[in-house]
Formats: sequence, C-alpha cells, structure tokens
Amino acid sequence: MNKFWSPAIQSLVPYTPGEQPRIDGLTKLNTNENPYPPSPAVEHAIKHFSVERLRLYPDPDAGRLKDALASEYKLNREQIFVGNGSDEVLALAFMAFFRQTRPLLMPEISYSFYDVYANLFEIDYKKIPLDESFRVQLSDYSHENGGIIFANPNAPTGIAIELADIEALLKRNTESLVLVDEAYVDFGAESATSLVNKYPNVLVVQTFSKSRSLAGLRIGYAFGHPELIEALERVKNSFNSYPLDMFAIEAGCASLSDRAYLNKTCQQIIATRERSAEALEALNFVVCPSSTNFLFAHHRTLTGAELMTYLRERKILVRHFNKPEIANYLRITVGTDEEMERLIAALKAHPNIAS
Ligand code: PMP
Repeated sequence: MNKFWSPAIQSLVPYTPGEQPRIDGLTKLNTNENPYPPSPAVEHAIKHFSVERLRLYPDPDAGRLKDALASEYKLNREQIFVGNGSDEVLALAFMAFFRQTRPLLMPEISYSFYDVYANLFEIDYKKIPLDESFRVQLSDYSHENGGIIFANPNAPTGIAIELADIEALLKRNTESLVLVDEAYVDFGAESATSLVNKYPNVLVVQTFSKSRSLAGLRIGYAFGHPELIEALERVKNSFNSYPLDMFAIEAGCASLSDRAYLNKTCQQIIATRERSAEALEALNFVVCPSSTNFLFAHHRTLTGAELMTYLRERKILVRHFNKPEIANYLRITVGTDEEMERLIAALKAHPNIAS
C-alpha cells in the first residue's frame, strides 16, 4: 500500500480483461475476440489515410461516425454518444447516472467490470441472482433502485433476454435509468435500440470490438434520449474532449459502410458456435444456449480449473472464473472452424472425457 493512495483507491481491485499473453502458436479462445479480420472497407480506409492529417486534433464530436451510426440505426445524432470502447462508455454512464442514494441493481453473474465501476465511484449496488437455468429474470428487478444495468445477451453465460421483458421493465421502472449493455447483441439477440425513441429511461451500449472485429481500435457507443447523451458528453468533456482518434473514426465509418460483411461474418460465427456446442455436448459437456460469440459450458465430471489447465498445456486458452457459483464452467470464445476443431480434438484426447 502506498501512502499517497487515497482510501477509495486502496479498496479497488483492478479488472484484467482475461489474459493477453504474447506467445506464438496459441489458440486464443479466452477473450471473445472475433476470429475474422475487420471488413476490407476498414483496410482500404486505413491504407488511404493521409498521415499528414495527424498533426491536427480529431473532430471533438466524432460527427462523421455519429452520422454513420445514426443512418445505420435510424436515430438522430443527438441520440448517440461515442467513446473509447464500450468500457469507457459504461464508466462514464456509471458516473453520470448511477451515483444515487438508492442502490444500482445488477445480475449476480454478469460482466465483472460493473462491480469495478460501482466500487470506483462508490456506488451502492445490489446483485440479483440468476434463475436456476442461469437466466436474468427481469421480473425480479423490483427492488427500489437508483438504476439497473445488465448485459443482453448476458456475459459470461451467453444467454439472451427477451425484448418484451426489457420493455416491460422500462414501463415498470420509469424513475431510474436502465442500461442495456449489448456488447454481443449482433450474434443473435434482439437489440433494445428500437425502444430508444419510446422510452427516455433506456440507454443502449454497443461496441465495435466483437461483431465488427475492431477491438484494437477501442470504439464504443451509446444510444439514448438526447438528455442522457448530453449528460454523457458533459462527463466525457470533463476528462478529455476528444472521444476518438482519427483512425478510430475512419475505421468505424468504413465498418458501418459494409453491412454485408458484418452479416456474413456473424452468420459464420453463429454456425461455428452451433456446431461446437453440439460437439461439446457429445463430449459430456452441459452448454448454455448462447446468443453470443462464446460458449459457457461445464463438463459433467471434470472441473473447470483442471480442464483449463489441460487445454493451456496444449496451447489452447479458454476462460475460467474463480467465482464459486460458476467455478466449474469454461467460457470458450467461438473461433474459426479450424480453431474449434483443434479444441474439440484436444478435449477428445483427454483420458477422462467420455463421448
Ligand atoms: N460489455 C461486455 C459484456 C463485455 O464482455 C465487454 C468486453 N470485455 C465489454 C462490454 C467491453 O468491450 P469494449 O470495451 O471492447 O467495447
């Protein structure tokens, strides 16, 4: 402990987003990255970028990207916020909306950054358990609250929530903000974007990191009522008035121009996911129904920790969580068919995995 640390910092546990080892020859199925490159339109935009432009500051409003998002998602520019990855957008939202006298509600098992931000901003929170089949039951979110946050589909379970259930929650909960984190929505869940024009209490957060394969550029965004967006802009501007660098703006616009590529690669990942889920089930795994680019599964007899170590020794990285409720589970990112075949072959070679 350093004497210069403030008390709030001393109690913080930093989140590390999985492991990012720099070793050649790894099959990396641990951090939910997209196995395919971004759209060729992105490569074209970056290759033709004039380096001379870099002496200037980027557009502080990222206007071109907001306009491209507005046209793609049928919204107005005033309903859109952009930031450095959805992690940053989430952090700003926690700061802008959730520092209330009543607790923030969140699922017991969800994206671990929610705890990090709540602790960082000293926000009181209450965790709502998942149901017995690991689903987020929004009817359980009836406690008095200063906001509600959940991921749809949830992470790390991968299970989607019905849009009708989200709409019912918005109707019941008009006095506080509901943040829907849709990091994985393009892999098969229904987006709440269609509710943004109808409900002033919903904020939808999405990212270019997963379905658009641009994790390296850090582009996230939020859709909501213009007054919610204004709050985010105020907080953001107090830290750094330039939300995105020029490359991110260029690449983001290029990615949005190629909807066909997004659809094609998402369909490919979904097909690989479904085949991989069946192969895992045949190897005695129980697999949660996934609407994401990852599978959440446990083996009927072997522990998550031993399987993770076994796979790691074979240079295959998957994610294992130390939380007791899910300690037996592995979260496996859906890679290419070839990567998934390597995973399945390694599991088949395990002496105690019966098929
Ligand atoms: N939300 C969820 C549920 C996630 O799993 C992630 C990725 N770890 C994020 C948000 C953040 O993604 P990014 O900052 O890359 O946009």
